[in-house]
Amino acid sequence: MTQSSAVVVGAGVFGGWTALHLLRKGVSVTLVDAWGPGHSRASSGGETRVIRATYGADEIYTRWVVRSLELWKEYEKRWDIKLYHRMGGLWMASADGTYERAAIQVLKKVGVPFEELSVSEAARRFPQINFEDVEWAIYEEDCGYLLARRGCQAVLEAFIELGGTYVQSAAKRGRKGVVLSNGETLSADNYVFACGPWLGGLFPELGETFITPTRQEIYYFGTPLGDTRYLEGFCPIWIDNGPRLYYGIPGSNWRGFKVADDSTGETVDPTTMERLPREESIAAARDYMEFRFPGMKGAPLVEARVCQYENSTDHNFIIDRHPDAENVWVVGGGSGHGYKHGPALGEHVAEVVLGETPPNPFFGLSRLALKNA
Ligand SMILES: Cc1cc2nc3c(=O)[nH]c(=O)nc-3n(C[C@H](O)[C@H](O)[C@H](O)COP(=O)(O)OP(=O)(O)OC[C@H]3O[C@@H](n4cnc5c(N)ncnc54)[C@H](O)[C@@H]3O)c2cc1C
Repeated sequence: MTQSSAVVVGAGVFGGWTALHLLRKGVSVTLVDAWGPGHSRASSGGETRVIRATYGADEIYTRWVVRSLELWKEYEKRWDIKLYHRMGGLWMASADGTYERAAIQVLKKVGVPFEELSVSEAARRFPQINFEDVEWAIYEEDCGYLLARRGCQAVLEAFIELGGTYVQSAAKRGRKGVVLSNGETLSADNYVFACGPWLGGLFPELGETFITPTRQEIYYFGTPLGDTRYLEGFCPIWIDNGPRLYYGIPGSNWRGFKVADDSTGETVDPTTMERLPREESIAAARDYMEFRFPGMKGAPLVEARVCQYENSTDHNFIIDRHPDAENVWVVGGGSGHGYKHGPALGEHVAEVVLGETPPNPFFGLSRLALKNA
């Protein structure tokens, strides 16, 4: 039997884990990236990403979080590196609560440990949070954060150690394979394009709205000197599903108190976007933070990052064959929530590419209103 081969383009969390799982299944894999795993422009390029299983009615994501957490822990041990920080997470529900009520049914069904907290109980446990406008909360003990760019780097290191080939180059689809920027063509049995916010630009035939990269900002505020209430170990990860969804991570990994607005920003070009945070967005995040975390009043901004989401039209992932080729796969659409799923997604993509499991229509191209799909 000859060994099958694959070229994976994109060494972010989706492509990296896909390449690693294919390699572990005995495939000869070449992984190509223009700038490297978790680089400063990549969607996987931040310091930290939240992992939580509360996902509304979308059982598949809750199941993938459970599987991913198993794999993150297993690979942390193998690699002797700490990537997952278990912190506990507080999901604050406001008046509507439809998303959260659906989520708790799924959490129960899948067997994820969680507690439903009244506002008075939440305020007793977390007195540093102002619960005004919050109706109730879900507390997930296994919620935590993952070291994001470091995680992508660890996957690449493991991939190379196991015998995978890494090529640093821009790449595009050609008639006979993947064409590198030096003109060389890499030919293989299968091609996986996991190019994050760049995916739409590589496949314009899939329609303008196939992937929309949007501008997002993340802030780190300095916690008060001598006050531990907003640090890892004293404060949970928090997600506030109010009129705008804000979420954050307490001071961790020796950075500041992270605050992010999940609303999608304007459409951007991930290659040319200037990554300077905006005064008005910082002010809005600060107002929110000072309302919800009154002890952080007057905290200075110590760091900021400008990044992009790579949105599909329904914010679900895209994992499917290209409509005109049996062996070309498009993988992306993380839509602001993909990082945590990297290990389970990569496992699934490897199985799909090798024909061990059929593509899941939930992630299919045909669900999207696409030209030519
Ligand atoms: C601000 C922010 C906060 C987020 N918070 C969370 C969170 O808390 N939890 C969570 O689970 N998720 C979160 N996400 C989402 C998550 O980070 C992304 O969904 C995920 O990282 C996407 O990974 P990817 O591999 O698809 O894309 P990327 O990481 O962008 O990787 C794509 C790779 O493809 C390469 N590439 C592109 N085009 C080419 C080409 N032509 N040739 C060669 N290489 C190419 C790029 O260089 C890049 O390395 C957040 C995202 C952002 C931006």
